[in-house]
Amino acid sequence: MKKLIIVFSAILLIQYSVCAKIKNGYNSSVEEKEILLARLKEVLLENKKRNSKSMVKLTFPQKRKMKLQIDSLEQYIYYHNLTEELLGHFKLISWEIYRDINNIFNENGIETDVYVKFVPKGQMKVGQNAITLMYQKPNNKYVSFSEYGSHTVAVIIAADTKPLWLLAHEFGHIKYQVPNFSTYVEFYKKYYYYKYFKSSFIGHNDRDESGKIAMRFGQEYQKNYKVYRNKLKEYYRYQIALIN
Ligand SMILES: [Zn+2]
Repeated sequence: MKKLIIVFSAILLIQYSVCAKIKNGYNSSVEEKEILLARLKEVLLENKKRNSKSMVKLTFPQKRKMKLQIDSLEQYIYYHNLTEELLGHFKLISWEIYRDINNIFNENGIETDVYVKFVPKGQMKVGQNAITLMYQKPNNKYVSFSEYGSHTVAVIIAADTKPLWLLAHEFGHIKYQVPNFSTYVEFYKKYYYYKYFKSSFIGHNDRDESGKIAMRFGQEYQKNYKVYRNKLKEYYRYQIALIN
């Protein structure tokens, strides 16, 4: 579990977040993907009909290409919906951690959005289950950015094993790194940047406060999960008692 990746490159300020939130990292383009998926399925269906009004009959390679596109779109939408669902569960299970990260500010008091994506394990590097990405602007050491713009953090989690525990852990790193961004970058350069570079070590040397909070958040999540699970059991017992 990880870690901050810092890149020093010239990137223009793209956007300014006015309302810090935890967000689904897939949200920005899911609607257009749903429209495209429906359209591709319609074209394939129309092409199958014997007396199709379709202007051109699709060739085998064209159909194959479209089917691959459909698979990829379906996967995107599936993981979008899964992310939505898992974030909802996390909010119910560990409300306090969720609230902390949903209202997080950098050291200058600027709100920071946290974009989360749950992905298939195959999309992560070997041995990697979760990663937090925030980069430093070359012209402003206090400003972090990610693929979602300025004042954002991107979190990517493998959905296959303990995804919500991993999310709690990454939230722990963020809890410390966002409000201490400029000093954490210095710390990162000193302890992780060139020497001792092992992915499992980054974020967790003895002096790394973000690693300590990440471990604490992981434990807190596990405790909260047990309470949540017992409440659910109670609820279902009650429901069954009502029926019988
Ligand atoms: Zn970690």
